[in-house]
Amino acid sequence: MKKQNSWVDYRDLKSRISVLDVMKHFGVELTTQNGIQYHGPCPLPGHSGNGDNPNAFSMNIEKNAWRCLTHCGSGNVIDLHLRMNGGDPENKGLFRETALTMQEIFLGGEMTMPSTPSKKLLVCPPKNLEPNEQLKFSLNVKSDIPYLTNEKRFDSELLSSLGIGWVGKGMFSGRVVVPIHNREGQLVAYAGRGLKETDIKKRGRWLLPKNFHKSLELFNQHRALECDLESDGLVVVEGFWSTLRWHQAGFPAVGLMGSSLSNQQLGQIATMTSIVWLMLDNDEAGKKAREKVVLQLAEKVAVRLVNYPEDSPHTQPEDFTPEELLKLLPK
Ligand SMILES: [Zn+2]
Repeated sequence: MKKQNSWVDYRDLKSRISVLDVMKHFGVELTTQNGIQYHGPCPLPGHSGNGDNPNAFSMNIEKNAWRCLTHCGSGNVIDLHLRMNGGDPENKGLFRETALTMQEIFLGGEMTMPSTPSKKLLVCPPKNLEPNEQLKFSLNVKSDIPYLTNEKRFDSELLSSLGIGWVGKGMFSGRVVVPIHNREGQLVAYAGRGLKETDIKKRGRWLLPKNFHKSLELFNQHRALECDLESDGLVVVEGFWSTLRWHQAGFPAVGLMGSSLSNQQLGQIATMTSIVWLMLDNDEAGKKAREKVVLQLAEKVAVRLVNYPEDSPHTQPEDFTPEELLKLLPK
């Protein structure tokens, strides 16, 4: 085989082929550009998370590198081509083969450009996700820190009883962690909220383990299940803190951990209750998602919106006090 014997200069290749060239080759357009940074839904065929998350994937054209913030990791331009082809990144031989192919495609080898159909909207193929496995450890947390008690206005004793707090070691070092349980109440993951700007810039505001599928879980579900959901109904919100604010108010609530509702989450909600109070964030993403989520829910349950008061400065449930939240529910 000619390819096996061909010579390839990885450094030359990386300096001459841009991540944008690769995206163009595969017919991908990232939706937003911010200087040298491009963002969009993750286009990798192996992406196991939400294929619509507009912030999942980013590329830095100066570093000629890419990163999937939620699932797929990061890499250089050759990795990108390899992954876009659905290749296994652990396969060393494939890396070389990909580089050779790229040399031919982009740097004028004898191979001609394959005609890839252009696809503007990227949706990762649905995958049958393995259930999230129960963790074999739990983290020691410090709940009495200003971010939680002052800024987020939670009682440190409540947080401590929920296992929420700051950790000093491991992948979440320097972050505040929130344990996520499955519907049986087994601990399946931690989400880590960054506190330092440098850390947030590098790893994102919220960090989730790579193999965790949040679309399979509803945050706080195992606690909500202990309540009388048939007479009260169930509040559905986006984030962890918003869920906990409703929990503080003594009202059963679950968090989608984002503004989209997966089929699995919908199925679980439908087994819990027949009445849903929906209160997504009152920001652009939340308003955009609301209509879609209402329609999804309405197929299975009676859904009612918890409306933000007119000219309220608050954009998410966590901004209210527990008493204020309860007043938002019609008598
Ligand atoms: Zn991805």
